Formats: sequence, C-alpha cells, structure tokens
Amino acid sequence: MPATLIKGKDIREEILTEIRADVERIRDKTGAVPGLVTILVGEDPASVSYVTGKIKTAQSLGFKEVQENRPETISEEELLALVEQYNRDETIHGILVQLPLPKQIDEKKVINAINPDKDVDGFHPVNVGRLLIGGGGVKFPPCTPAGIVEMLRRAEVPTAGAEVVVVGRSNIVGKPVAVMLLQKAEGANATVTVAHTRTRDLAAHCRRADILIVAAGVPGLVKPEWIKPGSCVIDVGVNRVGTKISKKTGKPVAVLKGDVDFEKAAEIAGWITPVPGGVGPMTITMLMQNTLNSLKFMLGME
Ligand code: NAD
Repeated sequence: MPATLIKGKDIREEILTEIRADVERIRDKTGAVPGLVTILVGEDPASVSYVTGKIKTAQSLGFKEVQENRPETISEEELLALVEQYNRDETIHGILVQLPLPKQIDEKKVINAINPDKDVDGFHPVNVGRLLIGGGGVKFPPCTPAGIVEMLRRAEVPTAGAEVVVVGRSNIVGKPVAVMLLQKAEGANATVTVAHTRTRDLAAHCRRADILIVAAGVPGLVKPEWIKPGSCVIDVGVNRVGTKISKKTGKPVAVLKGDVDFEKAAEIAGWITPVPGGVGPMTITMLMQNTLNSLKFMLGME
C-alpha cells in the first residue's frame, strides 16, 4: 500500500493530550473548567452511542459534563426552555443538542435558540455566517469539517492552490468543508469544487482532485480509477454494510465501510483515511476543542 495512512485515531490522541494539558493549566490559573451540556431526546441507538462517546471524552478531559436526557414525547416549548436554562448558566460553555429531534420539534428553532457563543457544534446561522466570512471571527467551525482540515494540516498535505473536490453538499460536512478550504488562510487557499447528485460526470471531477473529500454516504461510490495518482483521499462516509461477531465481546457489531473502495484506492493515492478510524474519531475531538475554546473566549484568553 503506497499511500500514507492518515489515522484519525492517532491524531485524536495527540489533540486530546494537548487539550488535557490546557484544561489543567487554565484550571490551576483560574479555577474554571470547560462545561458541556449534552441534551439527548429519545433513545435512538445511534444518538445514544454518539452522546455516550461525547460524555466519556469530556469526562476524561476534566470537563464539567452535564447530561440532560429527555423522553421522545418532550414538547418544543420544554426543550426550548431547557436550552435557555443553559444559555444562562455561566459554568456551561458548550450546548450540544443531539440531532435528529422528534417530529413535533422544529430543529431549526432549537438550533436558533442556542446562544451562538455556546454553539460548539457550529450549526447556528450566526456561526455559519462567521465561517463563511472567515478570518478571526470564526468561533466554532463545525466539528467534522474542522477535523478534516486538522487532519490535512497534521499530515502536511499541501492545500494552497490545490484542486479540492468535495463530493456531497450537506450543511454538516460538504458545504462547510468547502468553505473552510477556500478561505484565504494558512492550511486553506485551495480551489474548491463541490459535487452532488446532480453533478454531470462525477468521475471526471474526481480524477483531477489533488484532495478528494467524499461525504456522500454511498458505499464504494468512488471507484479506484477515479483517483489521481499521489492525491489525498479523505473518506468521510460511514456506511453500515452488515454485521459481524466482535472478537472482543462475542456480540454482533456493525461492519462499516466508507464511500471509497479503500484497498484499491490505497494503491493509487498518496494519502488516505481508513474507515473506521479515519475522520470518525476527529468529530468528537473537535467538539472538545470547540468547548475548550469557548471557555477561553469567555475568559478573554484567545
Ligand atoms: P447527507 O445525506 O446529508 O448528504 C449526502 C450528500 O452527498 C448530498 O449532498 C448528496 O447530494 C451527495 N450524494 C449522495 N449520493 C451521491 C452520488 N451518487 N453522487 C454525488 N453526490 C452524491 O450526508 P452527510 O450528513 O453529509 O453524511 C455523509 C456521509 O458522511 C454519511 O455516510 C455519514 O454517515 C458520514 N458522516 C460521518 C461523520 C464522521 O464523523 N465521520 C460525520 C458526519 C457524516
């Protein structure tokens, strides 16, 4: 496999070590620690698993972690009141409402109700605007795109002047990562194309990408022959394609595959991210980084 593997798992450990040290330093100096509230509505297994990962990581870093679990039947009014309670709580610097929310609740209304200065997911329109404008005003870049940019930086993949092709135009991955990489900034300055379901000749776009970021949620969408030799392939896709018995626990676990045919692509690319263990671990890591930064903003340390 000639491609260098960009392992999110290893980068996560590096970043978490940095965050832990920063938390201790700030706590010793000021007595304050980053505070994160995770609001989970209902018991969707995927949401429960994501939130559990966030809670465990926050606790391992010495954050204050508050869990608010509410039943599927909660009203919009009650959820908005809960968000408002934490908007006013000075010990909380990050408010995370796990999406999706049940049908009776307007997701947009809830996101808009979060104080933009505590919106560590970066989904509030104010933070989306800050991201688009770029520069020093960006407070909370959304976590998965921020993780991708950080992986490129730490793997020393050149971005200035690079042809970047992003496959997927979602608000949580495709659009924001495209915006981040086209900014006039260190670790960006790329020429970006965003492809989607209506794109004509996806293969031709992928073939000229120096950096190909695939976030479509379609297993094996990108064929090995679409990959430019020596390029960097970031596979964001997480697709459950079956189950297998875990050697560790003896229980059935999901078999995960990305949007790229990894084995063959790794023979052609210069860098590649695996699935699992690539972009996945970066998302929670960047949420922790945003929560720490939120405390620093509040203390005037940044
Ligand atoms: P989404 O469904 O909201 O958007 C998918 C996008 O891909 C759409 O814009 C669509 O136009 C495009 N697309 C779909 N099929 C296509 C095709 N055949 N050709 C061209 N474009 C196509 O998805 P999302 O929320 O952005 O997630 C994308 C994938 O990334 C999913 O597999 C998801 O599980 C994964 N994901 C991973 C992380 C992580 O932390 N690793 C975070 C978010 C999403």
